[in-house]
Amino acid sequence: MEKGSKIYVAGHRGLVGSAIVRNLKEKGYINIVGKTHSELDLKNQADVRKFFEEEKPEYVFLAAAKVGGINANNTAPADFIYENLEIQNNVIKAAFDFKVKKLLFLGSSCIYPKMCPQPIKEEYLLSGYLEPTNEAYALAKIAGLKMCQFFKRQYGANFISCMPTNLYGPNDNFDLNSSHVMPALIRKFHEAKVNNEPYVEVWGTGKPLREFLHVDDMADGCVFLMENYNGEEHVNIGTGREVTIKKLAEIIKEVVDFEGELRFNTEKPDGTPRKLLDVSKLEELGWKYKIELRNGIIDSYIWFKENNKKQ
Ligand code: GDP
Repeated sequence: MEKGSKIYVAGHRGLVGSAIVRNLKEKGYINIVGKTHSELDLKNQADVRKFFEEEKPEYVFLAAAKVGGINANNTAPADFIYENLEIQNNVIKAAFDFKVKKLLFLGSSCIYPKMCPQPIKEEYLLSGYLEPTNEAYALAKIAGLKMCQFFKRQYGANFISCMPTNLYGPNDNFDLNSSHVMPALIRKFHEAKVNNEPYVEVWGTGKPLREFLHVDDMADGCVFLMENYNGEEHVNIGTGREVTIKKLAEIIKEVVDFEGELRFNTEKPDGTPRKLLDVSKLEELGWKYKIELRNGIIDSYIWFKENNKKQ
């Protein structure tokens, strides 16, 4: 990628896409294209093709997707599978037809089987049943990464994929019904503190283990792969470290400085028991995360307070 290459970041307003744009700009890339949802509906095939034909991007980061936490995924599986397939099919095929030089598809660690050996190596994909709460999203993402692989295999297109672990950071979705655990707990602890409430409700048993990666690290890893990786197999992006949901809640409680207690609501689902990526492939390629969990949570909390005021 040259500093002046035309780079299209699909989903540039979202958590992931906005971080990729920040990282590209920091690295001196100057020709970045983004389209808001109202300017270009990626679910509309004709519009997507027209956009590629007119703009002719040379590089594409496919970071647009319908995303959500355990509740949203669990209750709207039809929307999650259909909309994600539409978006990725339209963008990948248009990128191929209009001769994009390289495309990076972003998946998610939920593509791996529920009962996968841990830490999860790239090769464990499709070795067992998926976690039912996010099966629809996972199936769409698996189709996307396989599509990149097959376009590379059959036509030699330079389409690669990466699978980030649970992400968090600025521009996250802090809506309690559809968000992931990190933003949900930041909001819950903050509001409980402001309203002097005695406790915060944490979903599930608190026992599941999750790995969290700050989006700025993820973006840096994505740009690194775009610059340095051309393999057929997808690459995990994570920290290789995990915490229990209980421990995560305790750290957020400290960062927010909330003095009440935690209450676990076991009526809510735990989801997959453990989801830790093996990141040795990426480390061998020469990339490692930098932002430690507590510092990342502080950063995210500052962003939330700043932006919550504006709404
Ligand atoms: P997952 O990683 O796909 O399971 O999605 P989430 O980030 O939504 O949930 C991760 C874990 O955090 C699950 O065990 C949830 O039950 C738990 N959790 C605890 N409190 C909350 C909360 O307030 N919101 C969400 N979304 N998850 C929570």
